[in-house]
Amino acid sequence: MEAETLGYRQTPEAQPDEKVKRALRKVHEAGYQMQAEAFSLLQTLSQRQDPEQIVDRVLKKLSEAPPSFPFVSKAMVEEASTLEREKRAATEGLREAEPVEMGKGIFRPEAKDVEARVEVVMDPTLQLASKGSVEAFMEYFRSRFQQLKRLLRQRLDLRDAATIRESLEGRAGAKVKFVGMVAEKVSRGKRFFLRVDDLEAEAQVLVQDSNPMLVDKARNLLLDQVVGVVGVKTGNGLVVAEDLILPDVPQRRPGFSPEEVNAVLISDLHVGSKVFEGKLFQAFLGWLRGGGGGRRERELAGKVKYLLVAGDLVDGIGVYPQQEEELEIQDVCRQYEAAAALLEQVPDHIVIIVIPGNHDAVRKALPQPALSKKYAEALYEKCGSQLVSLGNPAQVRLHGVEFLLHHGRSLEDVLVSMPNVSHRNPAKAMLGLLKGRHLSPVYGQRTPIAPETRDWMVVDRVPDVYHAGHIHVFDQTYYRGVRLINSGCWQKQTLYQQRLGLTPTPGVAAVVNLKTLALTVMDFSRMLGAP
Ligand code: FE
Ligand code: ZN
Repeated sequence: MEAETLGYRQTPEAQPDEKVKRALRKVHEAGYQMQAEAFSLLQTLSQRQDPEQIVDRVLKKLSEAPPSFPFVSKAMVEEASTLEREKRAATEGLREAEPVEMGKGIFRPEAKDVEARVEVVMDPTLQLASKGSVEAFMEYFRSRFQQLKRLLRQRLDLRDAATIRESLEGRAGAKVKFVGMVAEKVSRGKRFFLRVDDLEAEAQVLVQDSNPMLVDKARNLLLDQVVGVVGVKTGNGLVVAEDLILPDVPQRRPGFSPEEVNAVLISDLHVGSKVFEGKLFQAFLGWLRGGGGGRRERELAGKVKYLLVAGDLVDGIGVYPQQEEELEIQDVCRQYEAAAALLEQVPDHIVIIVIPGNHDAVRKALPQPALSKKYAEALYEKCGSQLVSLGNPAQVRLHGVEFLLHHGRSLEDVLVSMPNVSHRNPAKAMLGLLKGRHLSPVYGQRTPIAPETRDWMVVDRVPDVYHAGHIHVFDQTYYRGVRLINSGCWQKQTLYQQRLGLTPTPGVAAVVNLKTLALTVMDFSRMLGAP
């Protein structure tokens, strides 16, 4: 399934005044005079449209049927400008956000007549009670192992998997098949040694370099991932791997909505940061309100029923050393006030679904509860019943289409571990997590995990759309009926990202049609002329 990108591509152009002058010259050169009213309309239009193109159309029309008087009238400019506008809409897309009054103007959002259908499938918020004790960690890992073992044993090829102890009891040369968690991974040249345990016993697994496909699988394995091992037991108790199997996602048909409504996916606003892209976000809000210029963009906006925000609504405070130097708003409550003032502008018929990220003012360890009412009070107050505030991760069903929302801090772990994955292709990193059916496998590195009695990061139900953020680079892919979208950001490059060599892609919103799962990418940075 291919995605389509809409957005205005900016080309270097002269000042509007210059263009109007040139347009006027064209009229004169063609032997016509321009009526004063026509000229002032052209001047107004030149803010949004190319006056020369309008004049070209007028002159073309005149050449087809010359009038009895050599004048260009206001009506002629008007007509040519709408033609021009329609043509532009069809070819280039969004040009400028012009907020149109809801319900009154020409913009009548279809989604206003569609009843919202939100079912929360999974939300850890009210069920968090981590004690942080050693027993709690044991219980947490047991939960992870049991849940993933169950998923692995649903596979035909692992239905008859034994325990590690049973497997190691067999004679040398016997075939073994078991499920275990990757406790250690060491590479020696092209060979890999894995230590795999199932909370009862552990096995040393050798991946030989003779099988490049298998070496590749071993290379992509993440620590603490749960994996199926098929191999042969040797005389000294080692297991020589023949296959390594992740739970993966079965071939499936995604869920589709009977109604044609759109969900818009964004994340990482970082309101409060000095480099928050306020202009781009205003353009986005303007588009949601029907000020999208082109007919297609307005139609798209009119069908938006849901706005999904995958975390980092604000920049927070004390998230990294010396953050205060990069903050426009130093108080986290005021950051949420500013964010609320923006989200308040989202049309009332659109449901806003928000989860927190690592910059938000809730506990940092996964799973995170929903945004705190104490710090994000303004948001709860201003968005009221429009707001569905959930934890990270969370899963919701919208008109029968399941969305998995996950902020995505653990994607950093994937970026450093998996070959061929970088911050340029975060959707690939998301796919790596999805295949392992766990959103944050690596324990004790970048992503803090709280030892809840249940592991909430296991992807028990395969979603139709997996939405993450955090990397600040827009990317998407499609795999076995699952749309994976990393929704980019609304913040310019930070100093930290500069050091990493990461170029963010601010100003992109992903629009998913729930009836077809088709994806349209609205790129507001093109509209405002970013390079
Ligand atoms: Fe972020
Ligand atoms: Zn983040």
